[in-house]
Amino acid sequence: MARHRSPGGQAPSPDLDDALDGAAVRVRGTHRLPAPPSALRGRVVVAAVACGAFAAAAAGQTLQAAATDSTDSHGGVTPLASARDASAAFGVGGDATAGAPELLPVARVSDASAEVQKLSDSEHITQARQERDDAAAKAAEAEKNKPKCVRFAQGTFTSGFGARWGTSHLGVDIANSIGTPIVAAMGGTVIEAGPASGFGLWVRIQLDDGTINVYGHMNSFSVRAGQKVEAGDKIAEIGNRGQSTGPHVHFEVWTPAGKKINPQPWLAARGVKL
Ligand SMILES: [Zn+2]
Repeated sequence: MARHRSPGGQAPSPDLDDALDGAAVRVRGTHRLPAPPSALRGRVVVAAVACGAFAAAAAGQTLQAAATDSTDSHGGVTPLASARDASAAFGVGGDATAGAPELLPVARVSDASAEVQKLSDSEHITQARQERDDAAAKAAEAEKNKPKCVRFAQGTFTSGFGARWGTSHLGVDIANSIGTPIVAAMGGTVIEAGPASGFGLWVRIQLDDGTINVYGHMNSFSVRAGQKVEAGDKIAEIGNRGQSTGPHVHFEVWTPAGKKINPQPWLAARGVKL
């Protein structure tokens, strides 16, 4: 009777009700995360607790080890080592994460040191430049004050350049006693020091511009070929060697072209009066 109560009506049949109920259960079920089996849930909780407990224990051991004694006389694995191993195994604490923050300060210190070093280098460079400039200024001052040309010997001017006794005297003479110092009139390079016909002994010095100064009749000399000399440096002593009528120094000036010129105006042009 009931099955035929309303054959074309709205009331669902018992079969349809059951089907709808089942569908409703399925729909609700698909929107839910399946509940984990209670056994698995229990294992996760136990693992989490164990992990935390072990980490805490490891930390405690670390603190204890650090606080008491880091050297274990009992042998085997020390508490500190086992704590470190445990931390590393669980990826918590340990050297990996503990060491990482230390890298930044170290890097900063290194950078700071480098910067300080750069500044220090810069200061050194500046100081070196200053010292170099000072040295250059002193050298320039000394160069300016250095005598460029000096009287090559003290004594009496006895003979000038030109005709003399029917011949040509190609230099100037200053007479003084044997052993009187002869100095370089100007700086240059000694190109010859030794015996020479008529001169007895001579010393020839070439100046930077190619001019050659010749000194003759000396008793002895104290320079050698190739030697650099400055104006005023002692090069020899007055003598009476060669074609000489008494102790004196004979002085000549040769131009770069080899012409022998009157030394008197040449010296006068350089501030030296005989
Ligand atoms: Zn002479």
